[in-house]
Amino acid sequence: VKESGRNGYRFFTELMQKEVLAVLQMENRLRVALQLNQFLLYYQPKVDPFENKVVGFEALIRWRVGPDEFVSPGEFISKAEEMGVIVSIGNWIINESCRQVREWLDNGVIDESVSVAVNLSIKQMQNSSLVSTIQKSLDLYKLPSACIQLEITEGIMIDDIDRTIKMLDQFKTMGLKVSIDDFGTGYSSLNYLRRLPIDALKIDMSFVQALHEGEQSKAIVRAIISLSKNLGLTVIAEGVEDGEQLSFLKELECDLIQGYYFSKPLESHSVERFMKTSLSN
Ligand code: C2E
Ligand code: CA
Ligand code: CA
Repeated sequence: VKESGRNGYRFFTELMQKEVLAVLQMENRLRVALQLNQFLLYYQPKVDPFENKVVGFEALIRWRVGPDEFVSPGEFISKAEEMGVIVSIGNWIINESCRQVREWLDNGVIDESVSVAVNLSIKQMQNSSLVSTIQKSLDLYKLPSACIQLEITEGIMIDDIDRTIKMLDQFKTMGLKVSIDDFGTGYSSLNYLRRLPIDALKIDMSFVQALHEGEQSKAIVRAIISLSKNLGLTVIAEGVEDGEQLSFLKELECDLIQGYYFSKPLESHSVERFMKTSLSN
């Protein structure tokens, strides 16, 4: 028993050492990536399907490690969150989104009614300088606050709810709209939802993509849309890939649509062409 215990212990520490090392290496790689400007943002249109009009974009980060080689956010965002480096990356994302909006406005690619939504991680929400970081970027690029929106996940509700509400109130005062992302997958309490000063719910992609499977997912999507309407919130469906999903969602008067049906996330230079050509028929 002793013997195996000792072996077990050694195995454990070796494994831990490897893990700690891997984490530290990743943290370094992410910091270096930031310095080397290896991050870039892609932009996916959010479409009003009744007017056939782009009302905004979601900014989605990409990490370019080679000429045509990218690491997807699924592979590094959660690690960046664990290590706290997400705060620095997040600050870059906020500033870069503002810079891009200013460029598009100046070039007439978009007008001031179009917004870019930035994903915020819980770690960023816990950082008290977030509000001033956003304000500084808005000021730097002389943007009205309506040009930037924020997406947060349900996870913030199991965090310190009073703090969360305070921060959301500050966003509201600033004029920044906030959506709850991946709605329906986390631990939302409907009671908290009622207390949160938010503007929109994004129906998680998994429900949209299960629509063809039958009544159950249809019932869930129907319920989220009607909940949104009853709470006076905008409702957005994401991961919409085909016409069948689209027409179901339009029938239920889902306000906004995001997904491959209209467009994949686009490189910034492709946005201009998309705005000029794609939805005008
Ligand atoms: P998310 O915020 O839920 O973003 C939506 C994801 O769904 C994106 O993946 C997008 O490319 C993908 N998507 C959009 N439409 C479709 C569709 O029709 N079909 C399918 N199959 N997928 C679709 P992406 O860009 O790989 O991002 C994954 C996740 O990584 C995001 O999920 C978000 O949680 C995180 N993430 C991405 N960018 C950022 C960022 O700038 N900051 C933070 N904190 N997280 C980010
Ligand atoms: Ca999102
Ligand atoms: Ca989502």
